[in-house]
Amino acid sequence: MVIIMQQGAPRAQVDDVVAVIEREGFRAFENPGVERKVIAVLGVVDSQKMEISHRLESLDGVERVTIISEPYKLSSRNYTADNTVIRVGGVEIGGNDVVVMGGPCSVESREQLLETAHAVKNAGGRLLRGGAFKPRTSPYSFQGLGEEGLKLLAEAREATGLPIVTEILDPFDLPLVAEYADVFQVGARNMSNFRLLELLGRTDKPVLLKRGPCAKLREMLQAAEYIMKDGNHQVMLCERGIVTFDDATRNTTDINAIPVLKQWSHLPVILDPSHSVGYTRWIPAIARAGVAAGADGIILEVHPNPSRALSDGGQSLRPEQFSKVVGELRAVAGAVGRGLA
Ligand code: PEP
Ligand code: MN
Repeated sequence: MVIIMQQGAPRAQVDDVVAVIEREGFRAFENPGVERKVIAVLGVVDSQKMEISHRLESLDGVERVTIISEPYKLSSRNYTADNTVIRVGGVEIGGNDVVVMGGPCSVESREQLLETAHAVKNAGGRLLRGGAFKPRTSPYSFQGLGEEGLKLLAEAREATGLPIVTEILDPFDLPLVAEYADVFQVGARNMSNFRLLELLGRTDKPVLLKRGPCAKLREMLQAAEYIMKDGNHQVMLCERGIVTFDDATRNTTDINAIPVLKQWSHLPVILDPSHSVGYTRWIPAIARAGVAAGADGIILEVHPNPSRALSDGGQSLRPEQFSKVVGELRAVAGAVGRGLA
């Protein structure tokens, strides 16, 4: 249930609404930073729904009360009609301009990361991605450089000015990763690690939440809700391909997810063509499709020497391929009435 206040309703009227909500045993959550106050009622309202809704509707300053029947509330489009715009460094994600993020799957060395970071920057990428803690299927595969990788990411940020996106694998690592990351990436395998999501909800940093390989979009929005319920509303929803019967590509890009999520939620939607497709040669086409379908951002794996990459080399773009894709994305963005940040 959300309560939409009248434009310019004074603080005292908002406080009255909050008091009624809390007296009924629910939590009130005020949408920060919008002109018209919207207050969400958190908790299971089910049986008394109509009665409480009528009581709230009769209070001074209340314009209307909307019952949100979806299991996700704060991430729902019904909570706020305005698109959420997330600011990282000087970059806005979720506004009119499409944002390109690029970088290696894993941080491997100083040379590899700095070379990639400069290439991403020069090509028009606005955020640098790179994993220091890697979720690998085999425990014998390269697991990432850990803290050393985070330090290298900080150095690359220093050198290029690009904010960094890096994966947080385990709640245990949160204090360490928080020292370095500008955006926390929650990997596909952790989309349902609810404890991790809750802890990220208590930080003040944006979260790039990747869709689980077998997760429904409604489940993804409830995962976002875990992050948002304690106040961190800076969540980006990332489609990264799902498991289907077809094994022609690594995963199957659910391009449908983009317009569906944009309609169901106010949060920015990002497409990761690299993990969706898994093969360098088909990635540019799917990246272009993502922008055409309405994605707010595209995240791509880039490596100066993909054949020697320690992870995901087969889906990494060389810097010149990345640069070409960025040019194509600019053209597609223009064709659908958007720009490239
Ligand atoms: C990655 O971004 O390198 C990664 C491991 O992605 P995902 O969690 O989507 O598999
Ligand atoms: Mn990867």
